[in-house]
Amino acid sequence: MTALLKVQDLHVAYGEIEAVKGISLEVEQGQTVALLGTNGAGKTTTLRTLSGLLRPTAGMIRFEDHAIERTPAHRIVGLGLAHCPEARRIFPRMSVEENLRLGAFLRRNADLSSDLDQAYERFPILGQRRDQAAGLLSGGEQQMLAIARALMCHPRLLMLDEPSMGLSPIMMQQIMRTIAELKAAGTTILLVEQNAQSALSIADYAYVLETGRIVLEGTGAQLLADQRVRDTYLGEG
Ligand code: ATP
Repeated sequence: MTALLKVQDLHVAYGEIEAVKGISLEVEQGQTVALLGTNGAGKTTTLRTLSGLLRPTAGMIRFEDHAIERTPAHRIVGLGLAHCPEARRIFPRMSVEENLRLGAFLRRNADLSSDLDQAYERFPILGQRRDQAAGLLSGGEQQMLAIARALMCHPRLLMLDEPSMGLSPIMMQQIMRTIAELKAAGTTILLVEQNAQSALSIADYAYVLETGRIVLEGTGAQLLADQRVRDTYLGEG
C-alpha cells in the first residue's frame, strides 16, 4: 500500500536551533498514527511543518502525489490535510456555528447544511449551543468544536495536536472515544498526544520522538508492551 503521507529525513530549525533532526514517518490511508514524546521533543514543530506553517530546512514531505515542503498552508488545507492545533484556537467571540462555517472556508459556495447537521449529530452539545459564543463552551466542548471545525473541510488526513490537553479525566475519555469513532468511520488520523496509554490503545502505528529524533516505533500494541515506553510514558518508571 502506498502511504497517504510520507515524510523523509525532515529537518526543521528555529534560527540556529534545530528542533526536528531528520525524522521519517508514514501514515497510510485509514490508519491512526500516534506521535509521542516528552515536552519539547518536536511534535508540535512537526505538525506545524506538515501544515505549511513552518518551512523545513531539509527533507521531503509527500501528501498523496504532491511534494508539499514548499506549498503554502492554505493550499495544503485544500489538498485535504487538516490541522487541529494545540490549545484548540477556536474564535471565542464568534458563535459555535460561525466557527464551524469557517472550517469550510475553502468550500465557500458549498451548501454546508448537511455538514453542519453531521457535526451536530456527532456532537449534540454543539447543536444545543450553536448560537452561543464559542468562548463560553467548556474546555472539552471547545476541543469538540475544534475537531468538528477541522472535519468541515472534509480532510483526507486529520492531524490532532494534544486534543486531551488540560481536560478533566472524564472529558479526556470522551475526546479519546470521539477519536476512536472517527477512526472507525474511516478517518485517517495523525495524533500527537501526551496521554500515551490512550493514544497507543487507539493507534495502528506509533513513533516516539526525543529531542527531535525518532527513537522508537512500532504498532500501538508493540509500544504498549515496550519496557522503555512503559517506564517513560506510562508512569511505571
Ligand atoms: P510540547 O508538548 O511542549 O508542545 P513538542 O514535542 O510539541 O512539546 P515543540 O513545541 O515542537 O515540542 O518544540 C521543539 C523544540 O523547539 C523545543 O526545544 C522548543 O523549545 C523549541 N521551539 C518551539 N517553538 C519555538 C519557537 N517559536 N522559537 C524557538 N524555539 C522553539
